[in-house]
Amino acid sequence: MPVQQNVPPKFALKVKAYITKFSKALAKKTAWATRELDKGIFADSLVCLNCGNELRTETDFYTSVCSSCTNHLPARRGRHCKYCGAYTVETDEKVCPDCKQTPPEFERVIAPFEYKGIAKQILVDYKKGGLKYLYLYIARFMTDHYKSNGFPADYVVYMPTTKRQRFLRGFNPLKKIAEFFSKSTGIPQIYPVYRSKNIPKHMAGTDRATRYESLYGVFSMNPNFSSDIIQDKVIILLNDTFNTGATENACARVLKENGASVVIIVAFARS
Ligand SMILES: [Zn+2]
Ligand SMILES: [Zn+2]
Repeated sequence: MPVQQNVPPKFALKVKAYITKFSKALAKKTAWATRELDKGIFADSLVCLNCGNELRTETDFYTSVCSSCTNHLPARRGRHCKYCGAYTVETDEKVCPDCKQTPPEFERVIAPFEYKGIAKQILVDYKKGGLKYLYLYIARFMTDHYKSNGFPADYVVYMPTTKRQRFLRGFNPLKKIAEFFSKSTGIPQIYPVYRSKNIPKHMAGTDRATRYESLYGVFSMNPNFSSDIIQDKVIILLNDTFNTGATENACARVLKENGASVVIIVAFARS
């Protein structure tokens, strides 16, 4: 009498293949989880945020970027417009042609880095990659740069987002940055403006005046906020990146219309 097999070989093979596939996937997931955990645990103290090498000096620990990578951060250098920060200034001028023609509502843009290379990567990892601990590095660079380049201010405001934006991203990238900035500069935070409309699609090739105008009405004054508070005050407006300046300009306009005297934009990177 032939020995009866409990499991048909074909089926056994199927099960084996399934288990292999499953364990491979599990191994992949475990490796990923370990990596993420490492980032979370060590990012603040031991490993360079950019290259992953061990951090050695106190300055390295502070910024969490090793000295060789710090040298490669795209620092903004050279002659630039005293209002918008653009590099397009003539030799003996302090203001760029755009600002001469269409002066912005803000008085200054303070940003330590160009929006490229490592600086851009950090922002992308933070905003899109969900590496939320990165807020600390971004906030530190912004705060330090403001402290060494800015002038005294009365209040800090961060660029308002819509509910939809916050929902899609799962968090507000500027909230924690603003908290850190406010705490370490001692400048109190206020919430005078909210975003009432979505920002229209970027209009490539249009001039500054048109771009600026297209965004008026995107921000409104918070109805629960008394504009007395900002009368003749210097306001810092925080944003992670400064691109064309149209959004910042529209927000600054609302602040100015309601009594603010000076608006300074502080960003991490300027494109
Ligand atoms: Zn490094
Ligand atoms: Zn300018």
